[in-house]
Amino acid sequence: MAIPNPKSNSCADCAGLGVIVDQVVGRSARARRCECQVRCKRCGGSGFVLVSAVDTSVAQPCACRHLAERIALFNAIGIPAAVAEASFETFKPYSDCQTQARAGTYDFARKFRGDEPNRGFLLHGKPGCGKTHLLAGTLRYLALEKGIGCRYIEFMLLLSDIKAGFNSGRAHMDILRSLAEVPVLAIDELGKERGTEWERSMLDELISRRYNMGLTTLFATNYPREATAVHTEPGRMVRTGSPEFQREAETMSLAQRVGDRIFSRLNEMCDFVRVEGPDFRKDAEAGRGTFWR
Ligand SMILES: [Zn+2]
Ligand SMILES: [Zn+2]
Repeated sequence: MAIPNPKSNSCADCAGLGVIVDQVVGRSARARRCECQVRCKRCGGSGFVLVSAVDTSVAQPCACRHLAERIALFNAIGIPAAVAEASFETFKPYSDCQTQARAGTYDFARKFRGDEPNRGFLLHGKPGCGKTHLLAGTLRYLALEKGIGCRYIEFMLLLSDIKAGFNSGRAHMDILRSLAEVPVLAIDELGKERGTEWERSMLDELISRRYNMGLTTLFATNYPREATAVHTEPGRMVRTGSPEFQREAETMSLAQRVGDRIFSRLNEMCDFVRVEGPDFRKDAEAGRGTFWR
């Protein structure tokens, strides 16, 4: 499916969206009102328009307030600076698989409705093939085009926050609550954690709460959906600290990384979408125009 270029009568800076997203090192992506929208022609920037009623006129919120609300929604997502500019339009597919992944995630975002349950998606594939870009682009579209509240997290960083919270006396639910309740949550780098019982219980609690409330959760993981057989000779001692074992661990499947219970829940909540192609971070041609130019 073609990704339409936003509005036609467009401003060269914002392509008619009214919003500019800034990429600032060390901060999550920040959106602001484009110059073309700074002074609204209808309300002169006051945010109110006078509407005539019987014998009088009353002030009503101007439609341009939508823009301020949507900018606030975007700024609450926590999109990493490296993918601040990620959108469906800026995603350049280099393989059929990436073209399909973009079409599938765009279709999800376009059809998303805030008033009914929406099945999420799980992007899987090798690192550097654009999974984080598609996650960020989906959240950007939902916030700016549809006014849907979203959050982006890397699961390992969330675990660090929870651990740091323990040290300062904060219960884990203080940190999880807002993530458990946001309309759309994207969890990146799923399965990268060590897979301890505690880590799994945190993940299980978060996605179970969201599942029970009918909220949509999106995921991305570097691990393959299916297990690739790890060849161990019968009776061979496995040294878990060895480089060989670490390499084998990297070929583990997502089911092995997160455990059967969570994996089966993921299958209930999500469509699995494969994203494979050249590595954007290694391939000079494919990586051109990214953050690390
Ligand atoms: Zn503009
Ligand atoms: Zn206005």
